[in-house]
Amino acid sequence: MARFQTSGTSRMPKSFPIVAWVSAASLTSMVEEARRCLPNETGGAFMGYWAGPSTVVITDVIGPGPMAKHARHSFYPDAEYHDHEIERIYVASDRLHTYLGDWHTHPNGSGTTSRRDRKTLSAIASEAGARAPKPLMAILAGNEEWKLAIWSWRAKDFFWLAKVALASVTSFD
Ligand SMILES: [Zn+2]
Repeated sequence: MARFQTSGTSRMPKSFPIVAWVSAASLTSMVEEARRCLPNETGGAFMGYWAGPSTVVITDVIGPGPMAKHARHSFYPDAEYHDHEIERIYVASDRLHTYLGDWHTHPNGSGTTSRRDRKTLSAIASEAGARAPKPLMAILAGNEEWKLAIWSWRAKDFFWLAKVALASVTSFD
């Protein structure tokens, strides 16, 4: 497992340390999918659980789905596929692993969120009966080398929480 620690934030008055755990196998599958879709974006969803108020464990990474739309600067997942996978994993885990948020790639870009990314994340957080009140958004950025940045959002103050993680995921051998 790789352990990612908050590096702080420039947009919040105080930092909110969060630790995110994700397996090397999950990172490998994300990078393989990212490479497969170059130069277009791709992504998917995260499943897992909060082990405490500031510790999140990502247990499953869902890919884009067969009907996803991939373009240079946008990605729209296959929503039906995602709903099906989220339900399947939820049931298979005895209802322990729930939807945590989404991930997508920025080919040749940075791990910084775009304005549209922030709108998407706030919409997920404020969705009625939100499945994920503290949703994650992970951005896998790069081309030859990839870096993963995991962001989170707290609906109550509508501020960016922090950059949860930034790690080089260059080598998986
Ligand atoms: Zn983005």
